[in-house]
Amino acid sequence: MKKNNSVQKAYRGRFAPSPSGELHFGSLLAAMASYADARHHNGAWLLRIDDIDQARVVKHSAQHILDTLEQCGFEWDEKVSYQSQCLHHYQSALEKLNQAKLSYPCTCSRKQLKALSDSGIYPGLCRHKTQHDSNNKNSAIRIKVPSERISFIDQIQQGYSQILSQDVGDFIIYRRDNVFSYQLSVVVDDFQSGITHVVRGYDLLDSTPKQIYLQQLLGYPQPQYAHIPLAVTEENLKLSKLSQAKKINCTLNTLVLAAHFLGQNELDNNDFDNIDDFWQYLISNWDINRVPRMEKQVIMV
Ligand SMILES: [Zn+2]
Repeated sequence: MKKNNSVQKAYRGRFAPSPSGELHFGSLLAAMASYADARHHNGAWLLRIDDIDQARVVKHSAQHILDTLEQCGFEWDEKVSYQSQCLHHYQSALEKLNQAKLSYPCTCSRKQLKALSDSGIYPGLCRHKTQHDSNNKNSAIRIKVPSERISFIDQIQQGYSQILSQDVGDFIIYRRDNVFSYQLSVVVDDFQSGITHVVRGYDLLDSTPKQIYLQQLLGYPQPQYAHIPLAVTEENLKLSKLSQAKKINCTLNTLVLAAHFLGQNELDNNDFDNIDDFWQYLISNWDINRVPRMEKQVIMV
């Protein structure tokens, strides 16, 4: 439920689920870690629905996710934001990058690129093009990346770095199907909401240098990052990729299981009378240094 809290906090965290299905255990972990860390630091915690890719939106799932979070006892600050309502912000960021001549249109097809290389690193075929060459509505827009190393200290995974020109190549900020890219929209959203701390899943660790680079180009401050391990099944399947990724049932059991996964091992179901007790305990005893420094962990579901 929405908490009324208008005081400007020094710590501003967020949880940003995609409304492409129910809230499953994997997303509960990201919600819990970002929430406990924010509240432990007496910070604000915001919710954002990442619905930029309308083709992937499952009807009513945003509402289901909010309902499940509420049943789990999460309390968020401010109004829930929706990426689909922020297109003007992404557009002005894109124009800023275009005007700085840091971007160029690309008409390469996936098939064409695949034939050139399997690495997924864009070979720069369209780098010579300028915005004026873009009379084709079907072109994507790529950003030119530097050859300097981009490094940051992750609060859980510790040091991480990439050389974007070698590891990634010029990446897409606007897709040829006329959708702002995930990388651009997330950077603009975090800036617009004044987010200071990003706690999310390990699968986004390798997106972080791209996001830091965009923050630098746009003159945005860089948040503190923390990437929690992914929950996988015994067969090494990511929970979110399971077709039947089960909707979670918000019991004390589920919450304690999630807290254990996040390294907060001392909790026991029997310690708590209800969900409120659980949160009170977790928030005051939360220690991000106990979250395992791992890419993934098996979870029995
Ligand atoms: Zn191209």
